[in-house]
Amino acid sequence: MPKPPSPKPRQLTSPETQSSNNKSQTASVERPFLDANVMGHILETLNGAYDLHPMGELTRNNPYKVLVACVLSLRTKDEVMIPASERLFVVADTPEKMVRLAPETIEKLVYPVGFYKTKAQSIIDFSQKLLDEFGGQVPNTIDELLTLKGVGRKTANLVVGLGHGLPAICVDTHVHRICNRLGYLQTKTPEETEMVLRNKLPQPYWSVINTVMVLHGQQTCKPIGPRCDVCPVETLCQKVDVKPRALKKLKPAK
Ligand code: SF4
Repeated sequence: MPKPPSPKPRQLTSPETQSSNNKSQTASVERPFLDANVMGHILETLNGAYDLHPMGELTRNNPYKVLVACVLSLRTKDEVMIPASERLFVVADTPEKMVRLAPETIEKLVYPVGFYKTKAQSIIDFSQKLLDEFGGQVPNTIDELLTLKGVGRKTANLVVGLGHGLPAICVDTHVHRICNRLGYLQTKTPEETEMVLRNKLPQPYWSVINTVMVLHGQQTCKPIGPRCDVCPVETLCQKVDVKPRALKKLKPAK
């Protein structure tokens, strides 16, 4: 584990010298942003603090599996999505096999994921499009992936990063919330966070940031009542607009 860098943040440059891409950050900031070195240390610390996300094991280096699993994961907990994906992949793990299934068959296999009927139809539709327009291959660009039914920016970035192993930043609600709490940036939407991260986060951290922050957000930096008292990066976090969970007071021993 590298020696922790000094938590002393860098000096702010004046708003006039900031790039236009960072204008949203400079408008109302009252504190310096975290230094890139400190952010790197935070990501390395979090990477070592949690077990690997099961999505990685389920879909590693297989863009089609990443695509299907991401669509199934929308508004569905991992504990439900992972076994549902495994049941489906046993029967069909390529576009060719998938389009041969009836929607009802996919529905039964993936139930009880949320919106299982809509997702089953989306999986058939984009699998057919992959066969018709992409030679049965999953494209590796965000723009092409966004043409597939049921695919948004989060899924597209995961397919590029996790499936194809190319540089991509997948920003979901956890990445957006935690980056703002840490004081690494100041943004209003996940889309804005993605654009700022593309400019300031060193590329070696692009593929890891989603994995570690999803786990950190689910287990420690929760949306309400974050567990700052047990957080492995508490000393480096600026806790912007954070109200940590209340701890029960221990009764003094008699
Ligand atoms: S110290 Fe609190 S707000 Fe900061 S990352 Fe940890 S849990 Fe989140």
